[in-house]
Amino acid sequence: MKKILIVDDSSTIRKLIRYILKKQEYRITEAKDGMDAMEKLASLEADLIIVDLNMPNMDGIQFVKNLRSNYYYMDTPVIMLTTTKDAELKRDALLAGVNLFLNKPVQPNFLIYKVEGLLKGE
Ligand SMILES: [Mg+2]
Repeated sequence: MKKILIVDDSSTIRKLIRYILKKQEYRITEAKDGMDAMEKLASLEADLIIVDLNMPNMDGIQFVKNLRSNYYYMDTPVIMLTTTKDAELKRDALLAGVNLFLNKPVQPNFLIYKVEGLLKGE
């Protein structure tokens, strides 16, 4: 079973993403910010990560930078899901190593499609 980590400071958003992915039978873990996510990843071995941009303690871009400096998570697919449409932040996120930058609210079927594709290495 593929393991997905959802990182968002909003528990409502975490529940929503979990709900969208429910039928897919993934093993889902939640983290409330980048710091919490780094701690969870020490033992999780996630196959894919969905991360918010704006979060306390460690934001999404800093989290992805830290992630990419870890040998084990160098190539793990990362989807950034955010309300921001700021082109500069999007560029920073992609430069940090985000595979896909999506805006909230996300179309559920589109998210499922992208998650499946990234897990297959597409
Ligand atoms: Mg947030």
